[in-house]
Amino acid sequence: MHQDVEKVLVSLEAIKQKISELGSVISSDYTGKNLLVVGILKGAMVFMSDLIRSLSVDVQIDFMAVSSYGASSQSTGVVRILKDLEQTIEGKHVLIVEDIVDTGLTLNYLQEILKARGPASVRICTLLDKPSRREVDVAIDYNGFSIPDEFVVGYGLDYNEKYRNLPEIYILKKEVYAKK
Ligand code: 5GP
Repeated sequence: MHQDVEKVLVSLEAIKQKISELGSVISSDYTGKNLLVVGILKGAMVFMSDLIRSLSVDVQIDFMAVSSYGASSQSTGVVRILKDLEQTIEGKHVLIVEDIVDTGLTLNYLQEILKARGPASVRICTLLDKPSRREVDVAIDYNGFSIPDEFVVGYGLDYNEKYRNLPEIYILKKEVYAKK
């Protein structure tokens, strides 16, 4: 295990199992439909790459990047689009894929923006959810794991752009972000 992490919160085994379950449910919900999977960069990229390979329906993929936490572990409440979709989504079934829902500010904002573009539907799939931290209501359609209020890294999630490559989801040692 990396020296900066305290312990494994979600093992690779549990992630794999959950992705296979999510893949079955999502595939059955979108049977006969074309699905546009929208990954929120950068954190969701590892999850999304595994998730789309568990889907049996036809999918297209695209990405958006929004600013959220910068270099700190606190939400600023400011959400800005850094990279937009490459296509129109009018009439399409959109599935937003996120790494973690915390305050809900990011997804609340993104969902509003995308709904205003006239898609056939917009749903949300997140690998992790921290329900105790919610500030605005977000209807999560597909959730991997509800977790306690701990700062986690690995499997795509970072702290200061580090730890995204770690294979599982870990609780980061408090002294790592207390140093800042
Ligand atoms: P929200 O807008 O829901 O507060 O924030 C969602 C974003 O905050 C996530 O996409 C992620 O980038 C970041 N975030 C929230 N909690 C954590 C966490 O425990 N670890 C990491 N690495 N990022 C987090």
